[in-house]
Amino acid sequence: MTISGAIRETLSERAGQRCEYCLLSEAASIKRHEPDHIIPKKHGGEDELDNLAWSCFQCNRYKGSEVAAFDTETGELTQLFNPRRHQWKAHFSVDSGQIVPKSRIGRVTILILQLNRPGRIAVRAKLAASGNYP
Ligand SMILES: [Zn+2]
Repeated sequence: MTISGAIRETLSERAGQRCEYCLLSEAASIKRHEPDHIIPKKHGGEDELDNLAWSCFQCNRYKGSEVAAFDTETGELTQLFNPRRHQWKAHFSVDSGQIVPKSRIGRVTILILQLNRPGRIAVRAKLAASGNYP
């Protein structure tokens, strides 16, 4: 099932027109943000608002059908950040465009969504310099 335009508007509004993973604003993004199934359909996730996040193209592509990863520091299998269950600021902070983990959830999410690829950091640093990030 495709996500309707009305649902997309709701998701965008709920997210403050920002990616719920990397906080990139829609206005600063070349590609339109899109719905992400937090629990992918492959894992039984549904098209419900409680299972949907608003995501930039890159976060959504890197996340794919991932739900968890092994934390590089503890080795523990750790769920990815869930924008419906977790507070962004409890798991991440930002330093000069770089997203810094504050928890295992933060670490695995940065790893899997490749939040700190150099090009992404550069874009965020530039936006931050003009007051448009986060
Ligand atoms: Zn993003």
